[in-house]
Amino acid sequence: MTEQMHWARWGDPAEAHPLSEEARGLVELAFGPAAEHPTTPLSDVRLPAPRLPEDLLAGLRDLVGDHQVRVDHEARVRHTRGKSTPDLLRMRHGDADDAPDAVVLPAGHDEVAAVVSWCSEHRVALVPFGGGTSVVGGLVARRDGYAGVLALDLRRLDRLVAVDRVSGTAVLEAGLLGPRAEALLAEHRLTLGPFPQSFEYASIGGFAATRSSGQASSGYGRFDQLVVALRVATPVGDLELGSAPANAAGPDLRELVLGSEGAFGVITAVTVRVRPAPETAVYETWRFASFPEGVAALRDLAQSGDAPTVLRLSDENETALNLAKPDEIGAGGEGGCLVVTGFEGTAEAVEARRRVVATRLEKRGGRSLGADDGAGWAAGRFKGPYLRDAMLDIGVLVETLETATFWSNLPRLYDEMSAALTAALTPASANGGGGPIVLCHISHVYETGASLYFTVAARQVGDGLEQWAAAKAAASDAMIAAGATITHHHAVGRDHRPWLAQEIGPVGVEILRAVKDRLDPNGVLNPGVLVP
Ligand SMILES: Cc1cc2nc3c(=O)[nH]c(=O)nc-3n(C[C@H](O)[C@H](O)[C@H](O)COP(=O)(O)OP(=O)(O)OC[C@H]3O[C@@H](n4cnc5c(N)ncnc54)[C@H](O)[C@@H]3O)c2cc1C
Repeated sequence: MTEQMHWARWGDPAEAHPLSEEARGLVELAFGPAAEHPTTPLSDVRLPAPRLPEDLLAGLRDLVGDHQVRVDHEARVRHTRGKSTPDLLRMRHGDADDAPDAVVLPAGHDEVAAVVSWCSEHRVALVPFGGGTSVVGGLVARRDGYAGVLALDLRRLDRLVAVDRVSGTAVLEAGLLGPRAEALLAEHRLTLGPFPQSFEYASIGGFAATRSSGQASSGYGRFDQLVVALRVATPVGDLELGSAPANAAGPDLRELVLGSEGAFGVITAVTVRVRPAPETAVYETWRFASFPEGVAALRDLAQSGDAPTVLRLSDENETALNLAKPDEIGAGGEGGCLVVTGFEGTAEAVEARRRVVATRLEKRGGRSLGADDGAGWAAGRFKGPYLRDAMLDIGVLVETLETATFWSNLPRLYDEMSAALTAALTPASANGGGGPIVLCHISHVYETGASLYFTVAARQVGDGLEQWAAAKAAASDAMIAAGATITHHHAVGRDHRPWLAQEIGPVGVEILRAVKDRLDPNGVLNPGVLVP
């Protein structure tokens, strides 16, 4: 795996493969003949004229060193937007209109703090850039009223600063990407654990700034639940939060930083709870006759406190496509709904939990399919996103979105979201054919509820941008109408911001604005994201 992502696709350029003949056949059956959609070469991507004058750039170079301020074509392209489908579509068409004027690579907290102050003083918009995997428009700053836009690439903040074995915590710098963070912790036989699907390219600071949640959230918790302390640089000074495992010292201010998407400050280090690296990991799949039966079984596990480390349930459509194993897409088999369970820990603990889970799943009507498919899921768990690019290559729009609600409301939310996405993506001339495919799974469960994660595929219309914007708006309206959250783990960015006020209400909006005004009086931190 290379550390540098493809500039216009997901992930490792070496993993960019076309669909297999079999998968392409299935895609053509569903969406009609493939239409090749080539990507504009990197050198032809259009950038806006740089706006930062030379004297300002010279001031920046004084802060971080000559080589750490980049204004070249490639650096600017690579720091344009994130990796949502609209982001990829625009880049494929050679549109980098939102590119930063320059990319700055500070070496540590003090340099970050200096750049933050400098931006505030010179009214330059600053976009913290971790792994660049945002799927909510979190990396696109408003440009009007600013002298220019800087991307603050945090990759040089890449140290494991300290390990406290006794307390079970570690201090990680914000720019560490997932695999490097895990490798450094593995030297101490420790793990962080949650593994979001974007794990290979996303950063520690990004996980905190978006309140990410990984595939193993049932066992390890969401990322925000793992955060013990934070160090943040803001235009009005540093913020150091988290001096005890728990406290009653007023509202927990760490929560203001978690999910703040660079709008309140730049996170430079995060102290996280770490666990012993698992001795063993076993994944097992189960089949349920229907989605509601699977949901009941997941709820039972979540509420009994017996949930395994990984717990996911695909609905009938997703099971039929076998998205759980991207290499075998389309080989769905027997129908029903697939559950993936994963157990990590000591051999003894894994075996004990596996028995308890098996008893509960059997009681609810589940049938074990054994460990082979589970191992296949684990091996392919980071491959799914590559399929999206292969589908975009042949004119099929693919995108995902997510939400969460309480168990009692889950059936309604599932039905209304499915209907909204299907209606919005069905072409007027469909006449019962050529409609979209809407798939769903649950991958994060709580005692009180769960998330729903939808994947949609539809024949691309035009450049796909208006088509997706309409579907996204319909789905977001459906979430709010059903009383669910606008996002369970992708954050707000620019894309969800129009719906945030409906979720948190006018007083909630005032609180966010007040915090923004006090911490960032000149409004330079990631302007345009999060705060309505
Ligand atoms: C294919 C794919 C799969 C994904 N799977 C998951 C998943 O399983 N679970 C999940 O939760 N998310 C997932 N995501 C979304 C994304 O990976 C997460 O939001 C991730 O946490 C972003 O981390 P990053 O380092 O890439 O942040 P970036 O994309 O670089 O930044 C995200 C936001 O945080 C801000 N930010 C970044 N670093 C800092 C910092 N140090 N201080 C302050 N602000 C900062 C940025 O300005 C931006 O607003 C997926 C995305 C893709 C493309």
